[in-house]
Amino acid sequence: MHLFYTFGHVLVNMPEKVLDANVFIHSTGLNMRFEEAVTVPSVKQELESEEARERYENSDIDAYRPGEENVMKVKERVEELGDELSTADIRVLALALERGSTVVSDDYGVQNVASSLDIEYEGFSQGNIDKEMEWKKICSRCGEEVEGGSCGRCGGEPERVPAES
Ligand SMILES: [Zn+2]
Repeated sequence: MHLFYTFGHVLVNMPEKVLDANVFIHSTGLNMRFEEAVTVPSVKQELESEEARERYENSDIDAYRPGEENVMKVKERVEELGDELSTADIRVLALALERGSTVVSDDYGVQNVASSLDIEYEGFSQGNIDKEMEWKKICSRCGEEVEGGSCGRCGGEPERVPAES
């Protein structure tokens, strides 16, 4: 975790933040709240309300495209973990990985993947998850643990369940 030391009004050691779509949807005063923040172009496509789009347009927050190799790295990890993330979420994580930044997201799936890739993250309105969620796939027909697309025993469809630790 990054620590923030406050000397009067000066903040030091402030890591750059990469913001997910929900931050634009729910936050007012973005520029004041985040000194150094960036996002990815595909976040804009997730902003459905006029208000959220205006917040994005009016902020000083720049959008950067992460490199394809980092996008692939994140995609692979998302698949391994059995999470389902949007294109924008994957790109937010890839950009943070590339720049060594902190992801700002309330999405537990995003936090989970960040944690797994050693990317710093923080929640926006709720607390962080305190434990990394692990998922496994089991057969919806016979309950056998499944590796890959279908059950090795009966050919049934897999479903995702939390792995008990
Ligand atoms: Zn089965």
